[in-house]
Amino acid sequence: MTWVRFQGTRLACIPTYPTKIHNPSIPRPMTPFDILPLQAELADKNPRTILKKALAQFDNIAISFSGAEDVVLIDMALAIRKDIQVFSLDTGRLHPETYRFIEKVRKHYQIDIELLTPNRDELDSFVKAKGLFSFYEDGHQECCGIRKVEPLKRKLAHVDAWITGQRKDQSLDTRQTIPEVQVDSAFSSPGQPLIKFNPLINWTSAQVWDYIEAYQVPYNDLHQHGFISIGCEPCTRPVLPNQHERAGRWWWEAGAKKECGLHAGNIKEN
Ligand code: SF4
Repeated sequence: MTWVRFQGTRLACIPTYPTKIHNPSIPRPMTPFDILPLQAELADKNPRTILKKALAQFDNIAISFSGAEDVVLIDMALAIRKDIQVFSLDTGRLHPETYRFIEKVRKHYQIDIELLTPNRDELDSFVKAKGLFSFYEDGHQECCGIRKVEPLKRKLAHVDAWITGQRKDQSLDTRQTIPEVQVDSAFSSPGQPLIKFNPLINWTSAQVWDYIEAYQVPYNDLHQHGFISIGCEPCTRPVLPNQHERAGRWWWEAGAKKECGLHAGNIKEN
């Protein structure tokens, strides 16, 4: 594989891709296969170390924000660098509490949060053809594709790397083998590989909530009403004690399919 948009150096050995990242403070340009040493360097490292590396290595990098763990990332990232990019997917189907949560985070940290919305024409055609709740009948992929994946794809086409709040313990089916850093197989293109950092991958839900409590990090009020993993309103419900957190997401579907397309590379076909 060849790529690289690192550190302002056009590498002679990489004929395919133009250099997009310009951070003269970083001395070492990446070679075409540098993801492997980077993975080795960051393996089992703590979230701050991973974030620090990500934010130093890439200028044009964005944090994807939707849930509690993402605010932990924002909180940590701001201690490293003030000019962080944060975006969130406004599917049009979020809970009112989630919109208030987004606003709470924006004000608390005094940051811009870019809201990504679906393509209007595509959404209109979809709703006209299938209504507002087709996902209960034929699965969430089509709706998520329009309301989440397409806007995300548009955004990711303009960054070099992104940071997610994925954790292994969020899904026994789809998130067990995710590394701290990876080439994003879902959103890279031949001319534009994309690097994805997962700083919290080895943290548990309890560690996230310990951090939230210790550092007084804002969270979604829905967490006080039995919700753990929170997505769109029609596709999220509270979970019972001892139920896994993802049990409240797309509960009518099998566990192995419970990815909305943002992390489609996590799903392995049988
Ligand atoms: S989570 Fe549900 S409402 Fe939201 S985009 Fe996916 S299918 Fe549509």
